[in-house]
Amino acid sequence: MQQHFIGGQWVASASGETLPVIDPSTGETFDQLARGNAEDIDRAVRAARAAREGAWGRLTATERGRILCRMSALILEQHEELAQLEARDTGKPLTQARADITVAARYCEFYGGAADKLHGEQIPYLNDFHVVVMHEPYGVTAHILPWNYPAQMFGRSVVPALAMGNAVVLKPSEDACLTPLAFCRIAEQAGLPAGALNVVTGLGEEAGAALTAHPDINFVTFTGSPEVGRLVQRAAGDRLIKCVLELGGKSPQIVFADADLDRAEATILKAITQNAGQTCSAGSRLLVQRSVHDEFVARVVKRFEGSRAGSPAMDLDCGPLINAAQKQRVEGFIRRAIDSGVPMLAQGRVAAGVPAGGYYVAPTVFGPVPRGHELACDEVFGPVLSIIPFDDEEDAVRLANATDFGLLAGIWTRDGSRLIRMAKRMECGQVYLNCYGAGGGVELPFGGVKHSGHGREKGFLALEEFCVIKTVVQFHGE
Ligand code: NAD
Repeated sequence: MQQHFIGGQWVASASGETLPVIDPSTGETFDQLARGNAEDIDRAVRAARAAREGAWGRLTATERGRILCRMSALILEQHEELAQLEARDTGKPLTQARADITVAARYCEFYGGAADKLHGEQIPYLNDFHVVVMHEPYGVTAHILPWNYPAQMFGRSVVPALAMGNAVVLKPSEDACLTPLAFCRIAEQAGLPAGALNVVTGLGEEAGAALTAHPDINFVTFTGSPEVGRLVQRAAGDRLIKCVLELGGKSPQIVFADADLDRAEATILKAITQNAGQTCSAGSRLLVQRSVHDEFVARVVKRFEGSRAGSPAMDLDCGPLINAAQKQRVEGFIRRAIDSGVPMLAQGRVAAGVPAGGYYVAPTVFGPVPRGHELACDEVFGPVLSIIPFDDEEDAVRLANATDFGLLAGIWTRDGSRLIRMAKRMECGQVYLNCYGAGGGVELPFGGVKHSGHGREKGFLALEEFCVIKTVVQFHGE
């Protein structure tokens, strides 16, 4: 039975209610989770406020950093156990789960080291004045996370907030929250003062909505779908507090005729099958220059034909989707594409011997997908690739930017000037040139434009997101 972590204590929900924890690779329930409500959220926010005004708020930046570095070391010590937990909770292949835990540890190391490196500045002003600019924590920060990378998301969202001295209330996804809870145990072992980190599990419309509506939070950061992002931003607007949104994507990989096709080909499949396509930055649109279209698409099709979905232990191209609703949603996209006459070019296989109740969907590729079709515009969040041909550079830019999203873009060409021209014209937050994605990429500022959200996570820059800038002006006389 998984309980909330509030004020340094493991506690049941005020209502006593629970939710099932389901293994996506079998469809079976293997644990229960506390179902938090507004009362639990209120307890967590009060505990966070008390920590901020108490022991946690009194620590120096260096002391905070040391605690995060100890967390990093403990995560690495318990690496395999945590990877198995992540794989069971999310269904992802073990290799991916292991990589995710390594990245979570790296976030703690990176932000632990950075905690005392964000320095203020002194501004030359009038002769009789001394002016300094300081970075201060917001106070209590609220974090709402999705289910696709619970361990990495904890590192990405919660850890920099702690590094800056905020007290955190986290509402992880009801579909995957076991590693964030395990990280609370690790935080205890690392000496994090009680109340600095609080986790309330439960449903979005109950615990999540109660958190965003709580009058005593100072900041909210949300990672998830654009639909819920709108609700969160509205709730933040009602409270007039800062809101960071990390939402979805429909990221293009653009392959020009002069590209290193071998290198591009090897990357295309992984960019859409990683985490069964349930990755905000998945390369879900493949734009191929017409003159090389047939040759390159034939290669991609071959890769898809050889691809397989299986259980975490099978460790194949992808695991199952997270739940029955997500499987149904992805299968709906596939069915509608077929019904509307979009050619299905290839479909991999679901491996023999997977449990019948698991939520598996084989990697699938469609093309040419008509411009404006839902497969060309909407986020599927599954292992489905849409191929679209383009004529020239101008056409590629138009097509790449022709969705509501703007998270990543990948550009493949041997023409160095074109790489830079294209990078400048992409409407998105990260551009990859002759490569795609960055694994953890802990150091690299990340975030979207348009419906992919606003604000930046990752990298040193993320520390500033979690700080209030205060300018102090002193008159000292002549
Ligand atoms: P979701 O929006 O359904 O849920 C995300 C979180 O919000 C969950 O914890 C959920 O419980 C909570 N929630 C739901 N309703 C709520 C409400 N009314 N008030 C407050 N909280 C509420 O998203 P999901 O299905 O878990 O994740 C998939 C989506 O997340 C995709 O669109 C994906 O692209 C996006 N995503 C984006 C990034 C990024 O960094 N840009 C990363 C991962 C996932």
